[in-house]
Amino acid sequence: MQVYTKILIGMGAGVAIGLALGPKSALLEADTYVVGDASSVEIRLDRDDPGSALALPEGASLRLEAEESLYEHLTDANGERVRLRTWVHVRFEWTRELALRDPGNALSDALERPRVGEERDGWLRVVNTALDGGGFVSTPEPVSGVGTTVISILRPVGTAFMKLIKMVIVPLVFSSLLVGVASLGDVRKLGRLGGKTIGLYLGTTAIAVTIGLALGNLIQPGNFVGERDRAALQAQFSGSAADSAQSAAEAPSTVDNILAIIPENPIGSLSSGDMLQVIFFAMIFGIALTLLGKDKSGTPVVNFFDRVQNAMVMIIHMVMTIAPFGVAALVADVVGQSGVSVLAALLFYAVTVLLGLAIHAGIVYAGLVRLLAKMPVTAFLKAIRPAQLIAFSTSSSSAALPVSMECAEQNLGVSNPVASFVLPLGSTVNMDGTALYQGVAAVFIAQVFDVDLSFTDQLAIVATATMASVGAAGVPGAGIVTLAMVLTTVGIPPVGVALILGMDRLLDMFRTAVNVTGDLAVTTVMAASEGETLHVLTKEEDKGDPDRGFEDRLQREPRPSPPTSDDLEEE
Ligand code: ASP
Repeated sequence: MQVYTKILIGMGAGVAIGLALGPKSALLEADTYVVGDASSVEIRLDRDDPGSALALPEGASLRLEAEESLYEHLTDANGERVRLRTWVHVRFEWTRELALRDPGNALSDALERPRVGEERDGWLRVVNTALDGGGFVSTPEPVSGVGTTVISILRPVGTAFMKLIKMVIVPLVFSSLLVGVASLGDVRKLGRLGGKTIGLYLGTTAIAVTIGLALGNLIQPGNFVGERDRAALQAQFSGSAADSAQSAAEAPSTVDNILAIIPENPIGSLSSGDMLQVIFFAMIFGIALTLLGKDKSGTPVVNFFDRVQNAMVMIIHMVMTIAPFGVAALVADVVGQSGVSVLAALLFYAVTVLLGLAIHAGIVYAGLVRLLAKMPVTAFLKAIRPAQLIAFSTSSSSAALPVSMECAEQNLGVSNPVASFVLPLGSTVNMDGTALYQGVAAVFIAQVFDVDLSFTDQLAIVATATMASVGAAGVPGAGIVTLAMVLTTVGIPPVGVALILGMDRLLDMFRTAVNVTGDLAVTTVMAASEGETLHVLTKEEDKGDPDRGFEDRLQREPRPSPPTSDDLEEE
């Protein structure tokens, strides 16, 4: 079975597990409260005595098992009587985290000095807030305890998979860019290729935001969110939205951003994984090696990093053997956390984003591949499927990079220098899917909050979203942080991010797949523009040539050891 098929099966299993057995499953009983920040809830030892409320430490997480609930009847804004939970008798464990976050022992004393692992009980207060349009929002809301456990057992598998991929990113980006730049051979060629690449990356991104804005204005998804859903979403996600707004507010100015690309200590950038700095240093290093010339000492260094790059790719082949399991766990986690109610409330918004992504891929990328690279679109899509699937399931362009490079070189026939230059750059700099979604999200939030966006505002969104997508790291959820920045530029309240947070992780998967497709489309165009003849790998060639293709590389006969750098120099 092909790697692609196995990953697809893993993904399907993940969706099924997430929906049926996740925390928000409709099939399982909602009997547990999982609280991210304990200080946001009130637990009393004696329900009738406000003085018995526990001083829960800020930031600590709590898992409360519900035993029995008390209800009351309240009348909503429309005069309807609704039965709502007001108090829940809960059991919880005294965890090491609680103990560590309780330095004065106030909490521990109130609970009569429990040992780690011991259980205590109390009354959790449920706050029911009436909405102007009728109905109530209750916080916190219970989820399934079994579902939470299932996901927490699966989560390490996904995390291990992600970490294994991330492990190779820094050495891979560094070595491949360095080798890519050095093997272009002369600095003028680098300048030409670099200029074209960055121009196309920015151009496609600006088109993407424009598509997002146009669809947002056309479909007006903001007008489909009811008062009730709006209040519910805000109540549920306002805490995390404040975090994004906060980090956007702390974002440095444009000049600082540009200066930040130059590393003071390149080893420091490598160890902290600051990708723009790593890219910058790798390029300068590569240029320096080129300038040293062949007769000088540059070649052994290039050869060394060439081998490093090959070894990193081989590691990815090893990691891909557990990809189906990793992907299943990652997808189950995301789907299980999201729940159906959020999806229903944001349906029109999500559809607008997905439609935009489809248009961008179907028209802009297909056009680039067909017209500029002269390659059949279906062949292109088939060749890049593994990269798209990894992008989709990990929601990280960086994590997909090693697989993208494999696809470009082995499946599409792009030369190593072009792939190793264009793709690592793209995985950090080019995020069309992210930019497009920011366009839709800005219009959506503006509509919900009744903020009028003038034409100039929309132009400002195109500019900031394009720049923001350059600065955003290729990791899950990077786009939502830079979105807060885009919103502030045109005066949309950044807490509006709360409206779309519940849906964000799911949409992240789609936009990341588009980001990576864009990187690969531009790579293909660049290869063609450099006069390379592209050729999509056929099944027969894959079987016949142990050096090409993505399948079963680990199972192949070991090859004679590769030539040493001395052999290469003699050539
Ligand atoms: N997850 C995206 C990526 O890695 C970035 C984002 O849109 O959040 O490409």
